This record gives sequence, C-alpha cells and structure tokens, in this order.
Amino acid sequence: MSKSTEYGSKGQSWHPEFIRYMEFIATHETYKEMPDAFTQGDKIQWEAPSNRSSGKYKDTHHKRREWWRRKAISINIDPNSAEWISRTAKQIHPTRKKPCKRCGMIMELRYVYPSSNFLKRLNKIEYNEEVFSIEPFETITDLVARLVDVFGDSTFSHLPALLQTNGILVPNLERSLPDWLSWIEKEYIPQEPRILSPGAMSNAPDRFDGFHSFNQCCRSKADKGRSQTNLKAYTTDRRVFEYWTEGNWIAADRLMGQIRAYFGNELCSNGHSGPCSADHIGPLSLGFTHRPEFQLLCNPCNSAKNNRMSLKDVVHLREVELKNETVISWHSKELWDQCKKYVSDDETALRLSKILRDNRHTLMSVFQKIADAGHFTFLSTFLELAHSLKFGAS
Ligand SMILES: [Zn+2]
Ligand SMILES: [Zn+2]
Repeated sequence: MSKSTEYGSKGQSWHPEFIRYMEFIATHETYKEMPDAFTQGDKIQWEAPSNRSSGKYKDTHHKRREWWRRKAISINIDPNSAEWISRTAKQIHPTRKKPCKRCGMIMELRYVYPSSNFLKRLNKIEYNEEVFSIEPFETITDLVARLVDVFGDSTFSHLPALLQTNGILVPNLERSLPDWLSWIEKEYIPQEPRILSPGAMSNAPDRFDGFHSFNQCCRSKADKGRSQTNLKAYTTDRRVFEYWTEGNWIAADRLMGQIRAYFGNELCSNGHSGPCSADHIGPLSLGFTHRPEFQLLCNPCNSAKNNRMSLKDVVHLREVELKNETVISWHSKELWDQCKKYVSDDETALRLSKILRDNRHTLMSVFQKIADAGHFTFLSTFLELAHSLKFGAS
C-alpha cells in the first residue's frame, strides 16, 4: 500500500496538499474515464508526457488528448479552434483553484494575479510618504481593496491607468469600491487581461487536470528569468532617491524583497505576531544608508518608530561601523560623527534623531536653491548615479 501511493522521487516528495488535490481530481465526476488514470492498484497516473517512447503507458498522452477532444465537444468548444484545450481545461475545472506541487500554496486558475508590469505601473504612482508593500501573489481585487484602504479615494483616479490593457475598455466608474470590485470580477478578469496572470498555466494533456503542477509561486525554480523580474518589481525602495541615500542598493533591495516574500509572517523584533515588514535600523529619512540589514517590525511598531531611534538602534549602528560598514550618507556623516558618542539613553537617541531630521531639511532646501538656479548638472553629481545605473540595468 505505502509503496503504491508514494509520489515524487527521492528527496523531492510532492506536497501533501497537492496529493489530496490529485485524489480529489482523479475521482471527480468531471474527469471520469480519463485514460490510464491509475497504475499499480490505486496510484494515480498524474503525468502523461508526450515523449515516452516505450512501455505500457507510452500512448497515454495521445489517448488523453482524444479524451480532451471529446470533452471539448461535449461543452461546445470546437476542437479545431484556437486554444481549445486550455479553454476546456479551465472551463471544466471543478474549483478553479489548485495547490502547488512543491509548496502546497493554493492559487486561482483565473487571471487574478498582478504581473510584474502591473507592479511597475503601481511603483510609478507617487503616493507621498506612505510606504505600501506589495504582497506576492495577492489577487487583483484584494490589492485594489487594500490600495483604497491605505490611500483612500485618490486610488480611484489611478485605476483606469493601472488596469488599462489591450482590448479591454476600462469604464469611468464612480468612486465606489464595491462597484469597481464587481466590474473587475465580472468583466475584467474573465477577459484574461494581459496585465494579470493565472496561478498556473494550462498544459493539457500533460497533466491530469490540464495544468502545470508548479504554481506561479514555484515556477521560478523552473523559469528563473521570470521570478527575477517579479522580485525586482516588489523591491524598488523609492526613498533612496528621495533622501539622496548612499549604500549598496542592489543587495539591500534584494534582501528587502526576499524578506517581504518569505519572512513577512515571522514575529516582530519586539515579539508581536506579523505581518511584518523590513525596517532599516538607521532610518533613510535621517540620512542613514540603504544597507542589506533590516529588522522585522509589525505595523504598529513601525508607525510607533516613525524615524525615531532608540538607544538600542544607535548602539547597534555604532557597532556596525566598527566593522567598517558605511551606515550614514555623506551629507549627514559629519553630524553623526560629532554626536553619536553622546547618546547614552533613549532620550539622547531621540534628540539625535531630531537633529538629523533637521539636517535633512536643511540639505533639501540647499538642493532646492541649486535647482531653482538651474544648476541641474551640478546637482546630479550628488546623486549616487553609480548605484542607480547598475540598479536600472539588470
Ligand atoms: Zn509553490
Ligand atoms: Zn511589533
């Protein structure tokens, strides 16, 4: 028994959630009479690759294609029309959701997940000082609801530009979240907008249910390029431009993205439960550098901190400096070097935070004067262009 129901090869067993799903599909009315559904007793034959050249099941792929053809006809899809087989797989699927074979994450088969291009559009919108972290694999409706929650009604004026995509006319709806969500659900998603993607692509008849076994969450392992574009879109920390910040931007952005993607549900540094985000121990807005080192903070702790350093933060930054790391940007370095040794408790740490913030305001007004006088080339010499070029290229 145990032998016949083991799935996957040594060291790479399939996720239990996925095996439960296989059992559900293989015994579901919809897929009855699937050719060669079971081998050796009750073991499900999930995969039917087209390249088997010998053996008892070498024709399984071909036989299943025939099954799909009959299925298509039974639901009035012409098996000679474009994408007939993937349309059939989507239409007959009993739940339109499936778990990932590798990690078990359940994702929708509909086009509900923002693509990296969508996230780039989102990154371009200026939302003042608010920090909005993009959750990987959040559905479009959840994302829109969260945008309205964080940024209020101004979100509605951005929606037509955000959702715009080939062949779909985005209407000018009222500033009403239920109206927008209902349009997105009923009109937008079913048209499979190019700016969104499904949780898994169809590949019938290669797999029993007609879909790739790895969902988008784990496609990266098989499809490296794609995941890297995705990660990059999550991680552009715009504040490094805003505050004329020094540092190793690439490494810091990459780490920040990984924290968001994989550690967002860990405990906060102060022991609270998540969700948490990556917080710079030395705040960028006080002139500290963008370095690949963060602490996890829950939302309440994050807003309580609000660019105020504690004694613990200052002590930590002084220790990091002893290892020859640059913790502070050039424009704030002198001030930090003069004052840091006087910080002995939370009160003095807070005072230093205020001095550094005032220094940034002074810096900005000096830059503004230079800009007003039209000396843009001179101004650009202060930007960390070496970082931004590398950053933009890859
Ligand atoms: Zn996965
Ligand atoms: Zn906390």
